[in-house]
Amino acid sequence: MRYVSTRGQAPALSFEETMLTGLARDGGLYVPESVPTLSEDAIRRMAWGSYEDAAFEVMWPFVGDTFTEDEFRELIANAYDGFGHVSRAPLKQVGDGQWLLELFHGPTLAFKDFAMQLIGQMFQHVLARRGDRITIVGATSGDTGSAAIEAFRGLDNVDVCILYPHGRVSEVQRRQMTTPVESNVHALAVDGTFDDCQRHLKDMFADDTFRDEVGLAAVNSINWARVLAQVVYYFTSAASLGAPKRKVSYTVPTGNFGDIYAGEIARRMGLPIDRLVIATNQNDILDRALREAEYRTGDVKPSISPSMDIQVSSNFERLLFDAYDRDGGAVAQIMDELRSGGRFKISQGAIDAIREGFASGSVSEAETLERIAVTQTEAQELVCPHTAVGLEVAADHHDIRVPMITLATAHPAKFPDAVEKATGIRPPLPKRMADLYDRSERVTQVANDLSALEEVIQEKRAK
Ligand SMILES: *Cc1c(COP(=O)(O)O)cnc(C)c1O
Repeated sequence: MRYVSTRGQAPALSFEETMLTGLARDGGLYVPESVPTLSEDAIRRMAWGSYEDAAFEVMWPFVGDTFTEDEFRELIANAYDGFGHVSRAPLKQVGDGQWLLELFHGPTLAFKDFAMQLIGQMFQHVLARRGDRITIVGATSGDTGSAAIEAFRGLDNVDVCILYPHGRVSEVQRRQMTTPVESNVHALAVDGTFDDCQRHLKDMFADDTFRDEVGLAAVNSINWARVLAQVVYYFTSAASLGAPKRKVSYTVPTGNFGDIYAGEIARRMGLPIDRLVIATNQNDILDRALREAEYRTGDVKPSISPSMDIQVSSNFERLLFDAYDRDGGAVAQIMDELRSGGRFKISQGAIDAIREGFASGSVSEAETLERIAVTQTEAQELVCPHTAVGLEVAADHHDIRVPMITLATAHPAKFPDAVEKATGIRPPLPKRMADLYDRSERVTQVANDLSALEEVIQEKRAK
């Protein structure tokens, strides 16, 4: 299996190279040259097989000769071993034909663990074989950083440095980043905003000397391997509701379009998905793009579902690539327009193709709180604000003949303030991490300055 860039200029790569590279050299994102399909029998078996077996079935055709079959099975087993639920991604009914897919039983209580835990295992395996050592640097507004730290802690061939805005992440998120004791983990609290952190990260990648010296690598949401790991739970959930014989639809709380794009890959692999519904908070660029056929950025408005507060939805480029019939030149051109003017028009052919498979909706702050409250009274479930955004949009798009599954992207205890505000109940942490508030923290505070950050990173990894 080869991977090509959405902008058509970068060389095609293997799975291993794609995973280690992340972003293509022409600024595009890597996508598989073609998408394999799974047999109906293979899908049917997932209704009673283990999550790990399904993960192998779904991902194996994509990884090429990067691993042997036995190696890949072992990496998958290690990745999901630490999850707090036997089925990894359990389904729960919350109404007539309405289901929640709980993706928060991983070590940091958000769906990002599904991809990050596996990426940690795959990176370690590949780097050990190559005899390489790298430094993963990430900028986070919360969930990605903690998931990356959990995934890479204690691995031999990787240092992980996470930049977060000092004083601007929730206490649970901060503690998840600052309490791991392993010496290859470095939490860096930057005196600035999340945007500052992201800008410094970009500048580090543009600094060739620094980049080569520390072996800089990234595991942000555009990494193909992350998308791939998320395809699996669409299969397991649909199979348990009767696929391939019965259709299902999904509503996905969306920021960078990674999680929902994984659903699109599942559909192309032969899973009978009727609709994929994009759910956004008040940062509604994707909902507007679908309605108006124009992609137009604005200012980020901070919300109570902060993991979806984005201006530019990176993975949407992958969908556009297909909607433009895989014309990399056309995608490069609209992305240039976006960079220079903050907007581009989506062509009639492309928007028609997108609307055939996707619907969308956006949700205000008040509606989000109201949905948390209603879900508690009607279904006795506490849900996180991101999940509530999904449920609110799902209610508008539910076709009674097709089960609707909403992705529950984080545990309510990760966002206790919003949940308490809506319901009066403060959700407790799961037992296995109840001592999070008692563990001691280790963090380095750094000035909002590129060279100060580079110096700290060099110093940390040298130890
Ligand atoms: C990252 C995140 C999202 C958004 O996922 P994308 O793949 O960026 O669309 C939604 N909810 C939670 C809790 C998240 O951490």
